[in-house]
Amino acid sequence: EEEIPEDHPRYQDLITRHRIENGVEKGITHLQGMHAEGRGSAFDYLLGEETIPSADAAERVAAAHLLLAEQPVLSINGNVAALVPGEMVALADAVDADLEVNLFNRTPERIEAIAEHLREHGAEDVKGLTADARIPNLDHQRAKVDADGIYAADVVVVPLEDGDRAEALQEMEKTEIVIDLNPLSRSPQVAEVPIVDNIIRAVPNMTVHAEELATASEDELRAIIEEFDRERALEAAEERIRNGV
Ligand code: ATP
Ligand code: MG
Repeated sequence: EEEIPEDHPRYQDLITRHRIENGVEKGITHLQGMHAEGRGSAFDYLLGEETIPSADAAERVAAAHLLLAEQPVLSINGNVAALVPGEMVALADAVDADLEVNLFNRTPERIEAIAEHLREHGAEDVKGLTADARIPNLDHQRAKVDADGIYAADVVVVPLEDGDRAEALQEMEKTEIVIDLNPLSRSPQVAEVPIVDNIIRAVPNMTVHAEELATASEDELRAIIEEFDRERALEAAEERIRNGV
């Protein structure tokens, strides 16, 4: 990361790409994660590489949901672990959530490598290694979750999630918060709270909102949630991408 001059106009994007490359080298990120990153990077370019106001509002709503939750869980895949490991640990601390490794291309080696990577970034307890429950209506490999983790969670944050699993989680009637730069992708389309923003900006901002809302009453948190219009948030993101406004 030191080799890229900070005043380079594509600095953040280059850093992001390097982190994914390092993730692949370390056995944390699947090679397919590079394609996902490329798609995300194109959408971010069109969004202006900034957190648009509707995304900031969604990040605040997500923080409110997480603070009200009985059992919130943050799902971690190979791209998330490579890009924002410490930031996910900080968010989990701010809202008292669990972290669970949840992979599309699941191997015991990658699960363990990601869990270890999260521990190196301050995580105490990492779920996803037991995998003793299944999400209904999904093929066996992708359905694996922890019984006392995602399976039992009332609120789940699933960044960069695959569309099938996002739909299956929605059918389980969980409050689903999706972070995804493509507002047309199925995952944000089915989410209760779609956050169309780069995970690199979204997660620290959710933590800032959570810290600000830490002393808010349950009624105040519910009011923030009530006000949110998911359709409008998706439309605002699409409008920015298509028309730049
Ligand atoms: P589908 O429409 O079936 O969901 P997809 O094109 O979304 O397919 P996936 O590989 O399942 O493909 O998902 C990758 C998603 O992650 C893309 O929508 C991409 O925009 C998003 N993404 C990639 N990098 C980031 C990032 N840094 N922050 C937020 N979203 C990202
Ligand atoms: Mg998708």
